[in-house]
Amino acid sequence: MELFRLLKTQDPEVFGSIRREFERQHGTLEMIASENFASPAVLAAMAQAMNNKYAEGYPGRRYYGGCAFVDEVENLARERLKTLFGAEHANVQPHSGTQANMAVYYGVMQPGETILAMHLSHGGHLSHGSPVSFAGTQYQVVYYTVNPRTERIDLDQVRDLARKHRPKVIVTGYSAYPRTIPFEGFREIADEVGAYLVADIAHIAGLVAAGVHPSPVGIAHFVTGTTHKTLRGPRGGFILSGKDLAKVVDKAVFPGIQGGPFMHVIAAKAVAFGEALKPEFRAYARQIVQNARTLAEVLMEEGLRLVSGGTDNHLMLVDLRPLGLTGKAAEKLLEEAGITVNKNTIPFDPEKPTVTSGIRIGTPALTTRGMKEPEMRRIGEWIAAILKNPEDEGLRARVRKEVRALVEAFPLYPELRKTLAEA
Ligand SMILES: *Cc1c(COP(=O)(O)O)cnc(C)c1O
Repeated sequence: MELFRLLKTQDPEVFGSIRREFERQHGTLEMIASENFASPAVLAAMAQAMNNKYAEGYPGRRYYGGCAFVDEVENLARERLKTLFGAEHANVQPHSGTQANMAVYYGVMQPGETILAMHLSHGGHLSHGSPVSFAGTQYQVVYYTVNPRTERIDLDQVRDLARKHRPKVIVTGYSAYPRTIPFEGFREIADEVGAYLVADIAHIAGLVAAGVHPSPVGIAHFVTGTTHKTLRGPRGGFILSGKDLAKVVDKAVFPGIQGGPFMHVIAAKAVAFGEALKPEFRAYARQIVQNARTLAEVLMEEGLRLVSGGTDNHLMLVDLRPLGLTGKAAEKLLEEAGITVNKNTIPFDPEKPTVTSGIRIGTPALTTRGMKEPEMRRIGEWIAAILKNPEDEGLRARVRKEVRALVEAFPLYPELRKTLAEA
């Protein structure tokens, strides 16, 4: 591609980093549950001149001239997103999942009002009220946790806390929860105490769109999410609501918490939503879940303990305490073998968030590369062997070689790789 040649000539340093990152993504097994590989069409839609356009406002109601064509793509993105989720209203401008949540809070809460959300170390997200996030400093936050025995959401506890603290907002939807979310139970609790229910589907948006996880649309007052995780689009966020709350959402995003929208990213969002509307995407999402189930089975057969005893979605959490390992150590061992995961707290984790007792493993990215159950079995056996034999350097070197062979059989962006190499 000419663009790469141009970049290489003008800025070889940045070009070099881009090419090395590309090779890293191709050459390793990406199992971070929040990551994925957007299609070449999605990437192409971002590398274009809509980057240059200021378009504060919404289609047909902009604060700048020259918006005819960016209006076209934003309308396309909104309509496709509404169709994908069966929603009455869609806002595609949030720059990220965090911004989507910030906008909803800003739209319905005053500073000092109360959020009820899952504790960060039980699967919640920073933007749900962590003390180091705006959410924790601007609002009062009360946390629910998973049940210590089942390691699943305990709606009785959520109800008790809601009755006691009368939150303005209840947040459901998580970063590290391997089970199906009971959206209807949350809505009943929200109605009982007069709270808004926010379902943050950042992780599971693709699964919900494909119908392999129940949808909160029509149940939660607001549905927030990201476009770059299981939805496999550009980095970004979105908000869905009913018609009754459309104005609240749109005013909160702009001018509430953002300025000009990233129109090149919105173009790429439209492309990704178009892809997700195709029948192939349903098959993809089903395969993500089947891959996760297979991987979880292998890890458990090998004697590893998974939080809640398995998974219903795209991710699983391994409790490393029985192996005498920390999450930090396990992340590093697997990285040496070419397998990328992240350390993650497990419920009631005795370790600090920088150390942790767990790792989080996800299947969306490898599923995008075309891997299926047989590959999951092999990878599961490698992961278990490495974690059970942390002293065995030779084993990690052998697995690294096998990983190199495996990734060549499932190439990432073969055409793009070639043009990068030839630039
Ligand atoms: C990833 C995630 C977000 C935030 O996404 P960013 O785009 O990184 O800001 C919000 N909520 C949940 C539950 C997430 O997992």
